[in-house]
Amino acid sequence: MDCLFCSIAAGDVDADVVHRTENVVAFRDVNPQAPTHLLIIPVEHVESARALREQHADLLVEMLSAAQHLAQTEEIDEGGWRLVTNVGADAGQTVHHLHLHLLGGRAMAWPPG
Ligand code: AMP
Repeated sequence: MDCLFCSIAAGDVDADVVHRTENVVAFRDVNPQAPTHLLIIPVEHVESARALREQHADLLVEMLSAAQHLAQTEEIDEGGWRLVTNVGADAGQTVHHLHLHLLGGRAMAWPPG
């Protein structure tokens, strides 16, 4: 399967990796939309939040724990941060491997565009 984020998780494609465990990898987005913009992905290929099942419960907790940890190491925890996951065309998903965008370091508008 030809998947960019699988290749990043495997270390076959370079990325600015800031966190790595057996199950979860986080790296800087190449086109940042905020002073901190990280992508948190599972090593396992999951197409999007649409494909999540009960068996992924522990994995999701690990991804959210990584977000908490990274918000602290990126020093955005006090100001606040946003997690976004796009599912499908209307949401603007361009990479079909589940990822959480962790955004912070500036005030954000709501609703999102
Ligand atoms: P989405 O549009 O929600 O699917 O998000 C995909 C994100 O991946 C976008 O914000 C891109 O800027 C980012 N992206 C694409 N290729 C790379 C890459 N090689 N390294 C880091 N981020 C990437």
